[in-house]
Amino acid sequence: MTVIYNKIALIGLGLIAGSMAHATRRAGLATQIVGTARSAETRQIAKDINLCDQITETAAEAVKDADLVVLCVPIGAMEAVMKDIAPHLKPGAVVSDVGSVKRAVFEAVMPQLPENVTFIGGHPMAGTEHSGPRSGFAELFDDRWCLIVPSEGADADAVQRLTDFWGGLGSKCAQMEMDHHDLVCAVVSHTPHLIAYTMVGVADDLARVTESEVVNFSAAGFRDFTRIAASDPTMWRDVFLSNKDATLEILGRFTEELFALQRAIRQGDGDHLHDYFTRTRAIRRGIIEAGQDTDAPNFGRASAPKS
Ligand code: NAP
Repeated sequence: MTVIYNKIALIGLGLIAGSMAHATRRAGLATQIVGTARSAETRQIAKDINLCDQITETAAEAVKDADLVVLCVPIGAMEAVMKDIAPHLKPGAVVSDVGSVKRAVFEAVMPQLPENVTFIGGHPMAGTEHSGPRSGFAELFDDRWCLIVPSEGADADAVQRLTDFWGGLGSKCAQMEMDHHDLVCAVVSHTPHLIAYTMVGVADDLARVTESEVVNFSAAGFRDFTRIAASDPTMWRDVFLSNKDATLEILGRFTEELFALQRAIRQGDGDHLHDYFTRTRAIRRGIIEAGQDTDAPNFGRASAPKS
């Protein structure tokens, strides 16, 4: 048990904050965890499941005397939350966030930041399709990356402390510049989500034609898309609206590649398809070798799907 911060305040009590609370307790990283959420319902659930040591009605109360404040709300809500808490932050405190996009968060937060408070962005590359305070669990961050994005001139000790904190939550940490972060995440997370949303939408249109066949015969590839496409609509709306440039850049490239594959299929160019799939197969092997996924049969699912 190594206490890294005396008091931490979690603003928003959903999947990410809930998991942070569990993992903080598991490792004894804070003396006190205070949490708050927008709705009375979420605050009551958090109390019922004893998620934090204290649940406050307002964010302003939660951040009082906190050494670390983490914004765990949708990106579109961060500016208003920051305005709310700014006058109540303890001098010397660190404010961080868990948003999936970084430039937009910096633009929302930095203008409100008091002079004696440091902002250091954070982004745990871990999640599920579930939301709300009951969905959190202590193992969510284990062996998953957390990207740390310090603001310009942020104190090196404060950055190290936050890195140690995420290490204590189970994560592997890497530092990144904000625009690079947003481009990387557009490639590995945001655009794949958009494609999954689209594919499931297309299948839904098709389902109206083919009754329930899309559901009954759904194979592993499609089922994986449906899991991703069940992700929280508010969170993902905000991700695309706030990472517009990088997502559009990657979508443009995606469309070009898709057209090339479409042409290869039309022209019967098997070599093109084979070469392409050989290249992508190597990427999958690299991901497994890096410990980022399992090569267990059926992606480690407990039981094989009915066919
Ligand atoms: P979540 O489970 O939906 O929880 C969101 C929390 O934010 C709830 O407590 C909600 O309060 C509160 N909230 C929502 N809108 C708000 C508003 N306008 N003003 C104030 N509070 C508001 O979300 P989550 O999955 O934990 O995501 C939180 C953040 O983590 C997002 O910025 C997201 O980009 C980032 N993130 C998510 C994942 C993921 O896979 N889920 C992964 C990495 C990073 P009520 O319950 O009272 O409505």
